[in-house]
Amino acid sequence: ATPTAIMVGTGLGARRGVLFKNATALEATARIDTVVLDKTGTLTKGEPEVTDVVAAGLEEQEMLALAAAVERESEHPLARAVDRYARQQGLPTLAATDFVNKPGHGASASVGHHRVLVGNRRLMDSEQIRLGELDERRAALSASGRTVVLVAVDGRAVGVIALADAVRESAGAAVTSLHEAGVRVVMLTGDNEATARRIAGQLGIDGVIAEVLPQDKATHVGRLQQMGRKVAMVGDGVNDAPALAQADVGIAIGAGTDVAIETADVVLMRSDPLDVPIAMRIGRATMRKEH
Ligand code: ADP
Ligand code: MG
Repeated sequence: ATPTAIMVGTGLGARRGVLFKNATALEATARIDTVVLDKTGTLTKGEPEVTDVVAAGLEEQEMLALAAAVERESEHPLARAVDRYARQQGLPTLAATDFVNKPGHGASASVGHHRVLVGNRRLMDSEQIRLGELDERRAALSASGRTVVLVAVDGRAVGVIALADAVRESAGAAVTSLHEAGVRVVMLTGDNEATARRIAGQLGIDGVIAEVLPQDKATHVGRLQQMGRKVAMVGDGVNDAPALAQADVGIAIGAGTDVAIETADVVLMRSDPLDVPIAMRIGRATMRKEH
């Protein structure tokens, strides 16, 4: 593209809060045929709220208080939501020691003389904890699009905490607009497969890659590139930074973490998924002015 076309494209983007960091970013955006979107914080608002609590073998309040004691030590958005919910319920604040964070899995800590685990099915599997009667509730809640956090105390599954994270208003329209531009849309998430599929289905997303460990997100982007796709990755988290770097174009949500914003080629200041197809259209229009 000519320097003038680049200036016009960059200026058009800036007016909408779509910041192209350089001319290469604008040109690469024009060639994208696949958009990979992180789920939590990108397609959703990233502000999960507890919706359902199921306890087995322990009083619900005791189970929640133990889980919250662990989650109070964690920065994870799910952990923040569990802690907040327990406080809203007026539960006692128990002290946790020996906190261990397990990225992509959950966390554990000692609370009084109990060892408490809080996290996903992969965490429970790795600790050989059987869910028993709780598994049915877990499956049903996941299938309804809830993110499910499991709780185990002293090696026994005692609870299911379900959380919902509202989908960003324009997420569906963004997918439709990308389809109109001939782009394939894929969701990439650390969350459970059933939860991811439910939300992807609601939004009309073509493909789902779920239960991905934080360190593996970039590998999945690389795999799509090996298949000949020109990939834009859209993300918000620290987790997403390597995948943003790997992609042909890394796009960060403005409300995201500093690392994501620094790594990205394009930043969406309004945190609006609809700005993804808009960035692409600006890129394509800019490149057409080449001839
Ligand atoms: P995402 O890619 O959706 O942003 P993460 O990679 O941060 O997710 O986490 C993946 C999964 O690991 C979560 O969906 C959750 O099941 C589990 N997890 C991680 N940390 C915690 C925690 N502190 N409490 C409960 N679950 C957790
Ligand atoms: Mg995220």
